[in-house]
Amino acid sequence: MDLSQNVSAVQARIAAAASAAGRRPEEITLCAATKVQTDETIRAAIAAGIRLCGENRVQELTAHQEANAYAGADVHFIGHLQTNKVRQVVGRVSLIHSVDSERLLRAIDSQAERLEMVQDILLEVNIGREASKGGISPEALPALAVLALQSPHVRLRGLMAIPPAAVLPGANRKYFSEMYHLFVDIMKEMSDNHNVMDCLSMGMSADYEDAIAEGATLVRVGSALFGPRPPMGTPR
Ligand SMILES: *Cc1c(COP(=O)(O)O)cnc(C)c1O
Repeated sequence: MDLSQNVSAVQARIAAAASAAGRRPEEITLCAATKVQTDETIRAAIAAGIRLCGENRVQELTAHQEANAYAGADVHFIGHLQTNKVRQVVGRVSLIHSVDSERLLRAIDSQAERLEMVQDILLEVNIGREASKGGISPEALPALAVLALQSPHVRLRGLMAIPPAAVLPGANRKYFSEMYHLFVDIMKEMSDNHNVMDCLSMGMSADYEDAIAEGATLVRVGSALFGPRPPMGTPR
């Protein structure tokens, strides 16, 4: 596996998918999903042109930050966040993608207030309505968005989704399209001087081109860059 070739290939496919959809390639941000990767691999990815890493486990985020592994890149938190771990994340990443409850939103707002800063967030939507997944239901989204707008220490930047694992290519386009419509509605109704909604985070290795076709502004790509991950729980 050649990481720098993979980075170039994914960047080229993003640009092609953007052009095919009549969009400019710069409208789409590539976020490298770095879970289970080592400090060395993260540094190599940054050397190969990655400018944004997404972490989904607090412990890994902290360890990589202590090792200064993200030097030269920005970091987002993209995984499920427990309220009791908010302190380890707020102020340490430029965007939290996975806010999906009132409790979590309030915890982030209070921690940001303690730090006298404003934390950028996305609201995660469970667009496939899967019981096993995080994310708020589409029906509950407007109320959570209103609460986010009323929270002075968070800035709502947009929405994130992880649709069901697609069995057939193209199967997730309908979910991406639904997300785009939710995003446009929220953007129209709720953007103000403080809350600039410019981020729609959706699409992973198997389907990021479809997500771009449907309006994604940020794609989170792991295995297409780093190769397959060991199954969860496998000792490394
Ligand atoms: C792991 C992960 C990704 C990337 O998944 P791949 O299929 O490896 O591209 C994207 N988003 C989140 C939230 C993840 O945890």
